[in-house]
Amino acid sequence: MNIHEYQAKELFKEFGIAIPNGVAVKSENEFDSAIASLNGDLIVVKSQIHAGGRGKGTFVDGFQGGVKLASKAEAAGIAKKMLGNTLVTKQTGPAGRQVGTVYFTEASDIAKEYYLSLLIDRSTGKVAIIASTAGGMDIEKVAEETPEQIMKMIVDADIGLQPFQVRKLGFFLGFGAKELMKQWTAIIKGLYKLFWTKDCSMVEVNPLILTEDNRILALDAKVSFDDNALFRHPEILELRDPHEEDPKEIEASKFGLNYIALDGNIACMVNGAGLAMSTMDIIKHFGGNPANFLDVGGGANEEAITQAFNILLKDKNVKGILVNIFGGIMRCDVIAAGVIAAVKNVGLTLPLVVRLEGTNVEIGRKMLAESGIKLTTADSLADAAEKIVKIVAEENK
Ligand code: GDP
Ligand code: MG
Repeated sequence: MNIHEYQAKELFKEFGIAIPNGVAVKSENEFDSAIASLNGDLIVVKSQIHAGGRGKGTFVDGFQGGVKLASKAEAAGIAKKMLGNTLVTKQTGPAGRQVGTVYFTEASDIAKEYYLSLLIDRSTGKVAIIASTAGGMDIEKVAEETPEQIMKMIVDADIGLQPFQVRKLGFFLGFGAKELMKQWTAIIKGLYKLFWTKDCSMVEVNPLILTEDNRILALDAKVSFDDNALFRHPEILELRDPHEEDPKEIEASKFGLNYIALDGNIACMVNGAGLAMSTMDIIKHFGGNPANFLDVGGGANEEAITQAFNILLKDKNVKGILVNIFGGIMRCDVIAAGVIAAVKNVGLTLPLVVRLEGTNVEIGRKMLAESGIKLTTADSLADAAEKIVKIVAEENK
């Protein structure tokens, strides 16, 4: 799960990480008071969307820049152009994202920009801190072209971030002077604590800056959380912005279903992520296009299957459904009962192909055959995919 910059910066504040003062607002009539509450003559007006590259982004109406430096007099006018407008950046895809919140911050005098992030290093299974003196740049490009400008520090989870690591990173970034090292220490310790206690999957500060008057500040903030740990953090779940997510995906997560919307027309209901991926692949192989990835999980019951059907059917592009379930822990007769009940509950009219395999498969198949539901059964993955692709193609000629 991702959150907005202004929310990430609230967390930064809570963990003692220095940030520029700012106020986030959602409506035009709050602009003036928000701007007036900030110090200094210059303001940064920042579009809040869940994507980076805002500074270099363009709005769909041609207005340039999702992050803009402005005088206090100009700031409200610029914010008006951003709010409600759709911003396209390198990370949003061509459709862009609509701006629902504008964040005003006090502008900083930048002497130097740095890159800093914390993430899970998959190869060691530990938290990695990535720091670079090449701030404000595309970090992947820096890693490729000038790797000497990057320091990667692995933190042992059992003993936590060590003082020597803090100092080594600090010296690397040029914060050797006593006063800077003190600020740096507070920032990196705060970031590590935030990462650890809130179960983050990534915290990125790009750029971290040194101001002309020698203050180290987090100028930008991107924080992502491990979805599997969100149950431990109701306060983080409250930060979820439904406008940034597919409502179907949010609905699915409430029922423990892993759902990701795609742009094809064949809906898939599968148990297990690996099986879901091979199902999508084989649909493609037969010339079809999956409308989604849906893993109903190992313990899917009747209710979960009904909810899964409901979610699939909210996608208006869906022209057919493929149910591909392997009964391992879950028995096929239980799944068949779930499918039958769900189809009746939601009044399904779209073509449906079902392939069941595994424990009690004969009983399950018999139940489907005797249910009176209009469906096509299949006895292998390839057979199932071929059938649904063919039916959908024929019905939508
Ligand atoms: P992003 O484009 O989505 O990564 O948004 P950022 O928050 O990183 O802002 C983009 C760029 O705007 C930064 O890299 C800075 O160069 C610039 N910027 C942002 N805030 C300030 C500020 O307070 N002062 C100055 N001089 N530049 C800023
Ligand atoms: Mg940035």
